[in-house]
Amino acid sequence: MTTDVAVIGAGPVGLFAIFECGMLKMRCRVIDTLEVIGGQCAALYPEKPIYDIPGYPQVMAQDLVDRLAEQAAPFEPAYHLGQQVTGLERLEEGCWRLTTSAGTVIDATAVVIAAGCGAFGPNRPPLAGIEDYEGTSVHYLVQRRESFRGRRVVIAGGGDSAVDWAISLAELAEKVYVVHRRPKFRAAPESVERLHRLAESGKIELVIPYQLAALEGDGRQLTGVQLADMSGLRKLLPADCLLPFFGLSMNLGPIADWGLQLDHHHITVNPASSETSAAGIFAIGDIAHYQGKLKLILTGFSEAAVAAHAIRPLVYPGEALHWEYSTTKGVPESGTAAE
Ligand code: FAD
Repeated sequence: MTTDVAVIGAGPVGLFAIFECGMLKMRCRVIDTLEVIGGQCAALYPEKPIYDIPGYPQVMAQDLVDRLAEQAAPFEPAYHLGQQVTGLERLEEGCWRLTTSAGTVIDATAVVIAAGCGAFGPNRPPLAGIEDYEGTSVHYLVQRRESFRGRRVVIAGGGDSAVDWAISLAELAEKVYVVHRRPKFRAAPESVERLHRLAESGKIELVIPYQLAALEGDGRQLTGVQLADMSGLRKLLPADCLLPFFGLSMNLGPIADWGLQLDHHHITVNPASSETSAAGIFAIGDIAHYQGKLKLILTGFSEAAVAAHAIRPLVYPGEALHWEYSTTKGVPESGTAAE
């Protein structure tokens, strides 16, 4: 398969790169390890409102992903989901070959790495047999808040995710326990205040200072979670679900072996072009690093525009760009992007 631009990562920033490339008449193939598009927004917080997207006073993370996909659609991107880009090699001047874990081979004029924090995964608590319960009773993210209605939920952790989800699920769960090793939470002060108010009213039970010790159940469905205090004394919480929120582990995965200049698990780029240390390979979004970088979706959108303009001369060498605002240019009607 060939394409003008291969985009590694279908997070919000990778999706916007399709639009920016499309406006400059460049076609994209987009590859993502996840089965769905949307990156962190879709996988980690689809039902959380985002407040700092320009023009949207408030937008649910999944709605933002849906809008970005709709905005990219006229440019007819090809999505290759459920596969990780494992190999990247230079075939010749102006041609990069990507290979994926599913055996897909894509030759591209330029590559945009929009891989977020790489292959991200949850930090798992070291509990015997936990993998048997994952997906049924143990969840590292909330995809559908409704699925916790009437359930007894144990939330473990002391950061924003633990506190925010405890507050949110208290409205519909039968019981919410919050297990934390310390009395102090590392979350937004107003959220911590709300958590304590809900605990006082009995909607949430704070189980502090305790940590997770063992799971009880039939190997699929949990019936309880055993805790241990700092002296090892055990206590059992009757529960249907466990939500451990111990943060994400960042792993660049194969990207670390592609010979690009890195800075602490991020790819160093020139902010004027988003180009990496290898000519023809660009990095945008959370994975890209330069002095003063802000890890925000809106910063990634701007980097996508910068990268698209830097890539255009590679796809159309020697051809001057007659640049127009989107208001003048419009977007192609479906099915006409290649013309
Ligand atoms: P990601 O969204 O991380 O997407 C990268 C994609 O690349 C992933 O889907 C991954 O599977 C894929 N990938 C990685 N390596 C490979 C590979 N080798 N092959 C194929 N695919 C690969 N930001 C804000 O601006 N405002 C907020 O309010 C906000 N709230 C947040 C709340 C939470 C709980 C979290 C966790 C984050 C929040 N963020 C917020 C941060 C925001 O989500 C990120 O900045 C944004 O997702 C980065 O987008 P991205 O496209 O660069 O990367």
